[in-house]
Amino acid sequence: MRHVIVGSGPAGVVAAETIRKADPAAEITLLCGEAEAPYSRMAIPYFLKGDIDETGIRIRKDAGHYGRMGITLVQARARSVDTASRLVDLSNGRSLPYDRLLVATGSRPSREQIPGIDLPGVHTCWTLSDARAILARAGPGTRVVQMGAGFVGCIIMEGLLSRGVDLTILVRSGYMVRRMMNPTASGLIRRWSEAKGVKVLTRTQPRALRANGGALQVDLGNGRTLPADMYLSVVGVDPDLEFLDGSGVKIGRGILVDEHLESSVPGVFAAGDVAESVDCLTGQRQVNAIQPNAVDQGRTAALNMAGRPTRFRGSLVFNVLTTVGLVSSSFGQWNGVAGGDWAEVLDESRYRYMNLQFDGGRLAGANCVGFSENIGALRGLIEGRLRLGAWKQRLLENPTLVMQAYLAASGGKV
Ligand SMILES: Cc1cc2nc3c(=O)[nH]c(=O)nc-3n(C[C@H](O)[C@H](O)[C@H](O)COP(=O)(O)OP(=O)(O)OC[C@H]3O[C@@H](n4cnc5c(N)ncnc54)[C@H](O)[C@@H]3O)c2cc1C
Repeated sequence: MRHVIVGSGPAGVVAAETIRKADPAAEITLLCGEAEAPYSRMAIPYFLKGDIDETGIRIRKDAGHYGRMGITLVQARARSVDTASRLVDLSNGRSLPYDRLLVATGSRPSREQIPGIDLPGVHTCWTLSDARAILARAGPGTRVVQMGAGFVGCIIMEGLLSRGVDLTILVRSGYMVRRMMNPTASGLIRRWSEAKGVKVLTRTQPRALRANGGALQVDLGNGRTLPADMYLSVVGVDPDLEFLDGSGVKIGRGILVDEHLESSVPGVFAAGDVAESVDCLTGQRQVNAIQPNAVDQGRTAALNMAGRPTRFRGSLVFNVLTTVGLVSSSFGQWNGVAGGDWAEVLDESRYRYMNLQFDGGRLAGANCVGFSENIGALRGLIEGRLRLGAWKQRLLENPTLVMQAYLAASGGKV
C-alpha cells in the first residue's frame, strides 16, 4: 500500500507514524513543503522569546527518527493531484503514485490587500522562516507595528517584547481576540497588554504602507501615520488548497470530510487545519485550527487509511492563550446558547474573570482570564457533556467551583 501525505506539520507527522505502526509493510512518503525538517508552528512563540532553539521547534528532535520508521521525507510541494490515475505532481518535477492520499497542508496567512504590503520590512508570523526574519530585525527600540490581535497576534507579543521592541498593535474591530473572547475578557487582555507597555489602537486599520528611507510609514488615514522599522501582518489564515483544483475534492471552508476523515473522492483523506469536520457539541461543520485537533485527526485519518475503520467523533473548540504572561481560555459555545443560563465572576484589579454558559443542565462553554488551574476541569465538563445536577445551581452562584463540579459530575455524584 502506497501512502502519500502532503504536509509535514503535526497532522502529517502523526499520520505517518500511525500508518507505520498499523502497517509495517506500507510505503509512506511525507511531503515537506517548506524545505525544513518537520516542525511545530505552535513552538514559534517560544522560539521568538529565546526559550527554545531550532532543535526545540522540531516535532521529532532526532533527525534519524523518520528513516528508522521507514518514512521517506521528500522536500517538495504538491502542485496538483490527478485523482483518476492517483498521482501527485510535485514542485521538483516528479510524480508520486499513491493508493491513499492524506492532505494535511494546514493553512496560510491571509494577505492584507493594501498598497505596500510587499515592501521589505513587512512580515507575517506563520512559518519558521517568518520567525527567523522577525528575529533578524527585532531588537531593543525596533519600532514594530502589528496589524491583528487574534490568537497568533496575541501569543507572539511576549516574544517580541522580550527583544525590547516598541510595539503598537492595530485592531480592526473594537476587541482583541474577538473570535474567542467576549468583550469583558477581551477588555482585560487589552488592559493587561497596555500595562506591559504595548500600545493598542482599536478600530484602526492601515490604508497603505510606504517606504521611508530604510524604514516604513504606516498610513492610518485622516493624515495619521506611524513610523515603523517592521510591520507585522497577522490578520488570520486561509486554506492552502489551490493544488487540489480540478481534483474533484469538495471544499467548503476547508476540505469537506466524512466521519472517517475521507473527502468526497475515495482514497483522499484530510486532517488538521485544512479539514472541515464537525464540532463534537453542536455537530455543525467547522475548521478547528488547533494543534490537538490536528494530532487527533492525523491519527484517525491514518487508521482509516491503513484499513482500520475508525470514527472521528468531532472536536471541541477550545483555545488556551498566553498574552504577555496572562493566561486566558475559551471553550465550546463560549458566546452562549439561545435561552441558556450564564454566570460570571470578575476581579478587574487581579485580571481574573470567568464566564460560564449553560445549555440546560450541562456546561456548554466558558471564557476565562487568569484562571489557568481550572482548564482541565472545564474541558472535561464541556467536552464530556456531563450532567451537572445540583452543581448547576452552585456554579450559577459561584463559577469558580468548576473543579469540585467536575469531580462530582465525572464521578457520577450529582
Ligand atoms: C505562532 C503560532 C502559534 C500557535 N500556537 C498554538 C497554540 O498555542 N495552541 C494550538 O493548539 N495551536 C497553535 N497554533 C496553531 C497550530 O500551529 C496549528 O493548528 C497546527 O500547526 C495545525 O497543524 P497541521 O498539521 O494541520 O498544519 P500545519 O502545521 O500548518 O502544517 C502544514 C504543513 O503542510 C505544508 N504544506 C502546505 N502546502 C503544501 C503543499 N502544497 N505541498 C507540500 N506541503 C505543503 C506546510 O509547509 C506545513 O509544513 C499556533 C500557530 C502559530 C502560527
